[in-house]
Amino acid sequence: MKHVPIRMCVACRRRRPKGELLRILVTEEGFVIDPSGKRPGRGAYVCPDSPECRSEKRLRRFAGAKARALAEALAAYLGGEDGQGKDLPAG
Ligand SMILES: [Zn+2]
Repeated sequence: MKHVPIRMCVACRRRRPKGELLRILVTEEGFVIDPSGKRPGRGAYVCPDSPECRSEKRLRRFAGAKARALAEALAAYLGGEDGQGKDLPAG
């Protein structure tokens, strides 16, 4: 049987297969979106398909004062309400 790694979304705390979540690299400078999920370093995960999980409010528990920057990076990467901005680099 294939092993499916499970990760937890830092916003809603749901556990999901790693492939369904978007990885965020935690660096000293801040957060970097890591779509490949392969960059070395400490990672965190959020649901890319749930706008709730990208909101500053939901991210604050995890990111604290940097929640706003993280929410903006996620919005830039994943697109806003209108789905625009997917090609913008984050971080
Ligand atoms: Zn979530």
